[in-house]
Amino acid sequence: MNLIGSYMNGNYKVSIFDDGTKIRENDLDFFEPNTVESMDIKITNKCDKGCPMCHEDSKSNGIHGDILSPSFLDKLHPYTELAIGGGNPLEHPDLEEFLLRCKDKKFIPSMTVNQDHFMKNIPLIKKLCDNELIYGLGISLTDPTDEFIETVKQFPNAVIHVIAGLFYKEELAKLEYQDLKILILGYKKFRRGESLYLKDPTLIDYNILWLKKLLYMFKVNRSFKCMSFDNLAIKQLDVKNSLNMSDEEWDMFYMGDDGQEEMTSASMYMDMVERMFAKNSCSPYRYPIMDTIEDMYNFLKEKK
Ligand code: SF4
Repeated sequence: MNLIGSYMNGNYKVSIFDDGTKIRENDLDFFEPNTVESMDIKITNKCDKGCPMCHEDSKSNGIHGDILSPSFLDKLHPYTELAIGGGNPLEHPDLEEFLLRCKDKKFIPSMTVNQDHFMKNIPLIKKLCDNELIYGLGISLTDPTDEFIETVKQFPNAVIHVIAGLFYKEELAKLEYQDLKILILGYKKFRRGESLYLKDPTLIDYNILWLKKLLYMFKVNRSFKCMSFDNLAIKQLDVKNSLNMSDEEWDMFYMGDDGQEEMTSASMYMDMVERMFAKNSCSPYRYPIMDTIEDMYNFLKEKK
């Protein structure tokens, strides 16, 4: 793996590599950041998929965020990781110009798209990857067909996103042992996600339970090339215990809490459509965007 860049954040050094690896290091026994390393950034609420669990409540008549006007984005430090999502970010008319500006400023953008949008936009996505306008590519799974799996394999930076509670054993059987990278997201009982959960909580809870029970086997059998989790999945699946991780292993891999409880992860959520920020994408506590990321980060850290 090759180093993309490194910088100091508070009392530690952050190094980011081109395979997605991030290393934090210092000689102390704690990390104290003074700004964000990464943010989820919603650039549009427009999406034609109408998924019943959409916690962003995105719609086909949703509006795009203003991502080109002067803002805090111009003042982010180099190597800030931007996880771009929507809505369908591919629908945003300023996406490419925005990514070019990100490249100029040495940010590290990644983007998440739905599987159907991915399959319909292969040339555009390939262009964005080849020109290093995006580094990571998240693809939200809808149906693990053979064609999809073979297409994903052409993108070394692709990570398949699945949602605990909406991920089925039949889908798992198709994805395992294919040398794929997988990100397991927690189930967000927020907006449409809450409505869907209330329709059949037993099924969703059952799906979370079987996934939790099988996690250790994924690790032992090396079912995936790489397996990762968001903060919500870490809690819902009790990942540390389910994977039988020692404290040393946990300290090595755990990147901090994104504000589900205490905010220690040096990450935050930015909604460029509503121009609001929050600790994470399912927090109901949102605040108007401020001038700098440090202002917003320190504001959130003070919030219990
Ligand atoms: S594809 Fe994503 S943004 Fe679009 S409706 Fe589904 S969950 Fe929401």
